[in-house]
Amino acid sequence: MKRTVKDLVNLEGKVVLLRVDFNVPIDDGGKILDTTRIIQALPTIKYLIEKKAKIVLISHLGRPDGYDIRKSLWPIAMILMRELPTPVYFSNKVLGKEVEEQIKQMENGSVLLLENIRFYKEEIECDMNFAKQIALLGQIFVNDAFGVAHREHATTYGLARLMPNAIGLLMEKEITTLSEAIQSPRRPFVVVLGGAKVKGKIKFILKLLDVADTLILGGAMAYTFLVASGISVGESIVDDDDVGFARDMLSIAKLKNKKILLPIDHVCIRETPKKKRPFVSEKLDDDMFAFDIGPKTIKLFKEELTKAKQILWNGPLGKYEDKRFAKGTSAIAKTIAKSSAFSIVGGGDSISAVKKAGVEKKINLISTGGGATLKYIEKGSLPCLDVIQEKIKI
Ligand code: ADP
Ligand code: MG
Repeated sequence: MKRTVKDLVNLEGKVVLLRVDFNVPIDDGGKILDTTRIIQALPTIKYLIEKKAKIVLISHLGRPDGYDIRKSLWPIAMILMRELPTPVYFSNKVLGKEVEEQIKQMENGSVLLLENIRFYKEEIECDMNFAKQIALLGQIFVNDAFGVAHREHATTYGLARLMPNAIGLLMEKEITTLSEAIQSPRRPFVVVLGGAKVKGKIKFILKLLDVADTLILGGAMAYTFLVASGISVGESIVDDDDVGFARDMLSIAKLKNKKILLPIDHVCIRETPKKKRPFVSEKLDDDMFAFDIGPKTIKLFKEELTKAKQILWNGPLGKYEDKRFAKGTSAIAKTIAKSSAFSIVGGGDSISAVKKAGVEKKINLISTGGGATLKYIEKGSLPCLDVIQEKIKI
């Protein structure tokens, strides 16, 4: 068991470097479009405030190439000021005399948010000299950034190697829920996989064939599997390199006696200039593009989901950003929300689909990680977690 922030003692007056994941969607005017990740980080921050620590928050936002005002964390500081009971300060630097001075002047229980750590390329390079300079700013490192725990960066992985450390409450909640769900699943355990990237999800699918009972495949990735089972998919998105892999997965599923469900009808369009209106079809002709699952598929998937005791969902079932192709994803989101099964949803797009359907409160775990969630399920561990100290057994 990894040490958590609750295992730390004598925090009063100590400078805690707290790595969080404030990588929220933000528009060019600095307006935050979804505050979920900020809200989910609050319990650890509030816990440290109660313990009268001095909290220095470190986060990234997007993938800036050097300084970029559109990726500044300043708008997030404004939200923290509204949400936290104690003073919140902001520093537009992450290193140097000015920051050191600012930290010296902090009252116990106050919070200092440092500017976007990815303005420094040393962060993703995991430059240990950079990490060492940051480590000098505080006495303890707490990692609560589950969303990037699969990446070895200077302030996620590097700092843990240099300082006394622990995980935060969000990270703890994510990993205990996920590990229980995978190690002792409530059965039948049904997994719904959609989205576009087959490649990124290959090893994940292999693992799921071990632990899940049924795999429901939708979204663009389903077409690679349909091709692998000899069904024509017209112009729908297919990952040619992965057809062989998909074929292997279908045979492994058969061997292991696991069910894989694929779409049986589709919402599609025909690529003739005058007929752009979507229609439902079971068969996909050469000039047809499928962008969503059809009504028969929705019914088939729903039947399977109602039998489930545990559901894991990753990836939308259609091109849901376009409302003509959002029905399938929305129907599945609502079915999962209604079911009495223990439900976990992970992945940026799947989470925004759940929110669009207005059912996020009915999901047991909205996992803040996309890649991290899949990696943790696949491996049962994450690089940034491996470098955290174990709980001391007494
Ligand atoms: P997540 O972020 O939940 O992990 P992905 O990033 O893998 O999911 O995939 C999401 C993307 O997949 C969305 O942009 C969606 O439009 C796209 N998508 C899903 N189904 C289809 C489809 N049938 N055709 C084209 N794009 C699709
Ligand atoms: Mg995505």
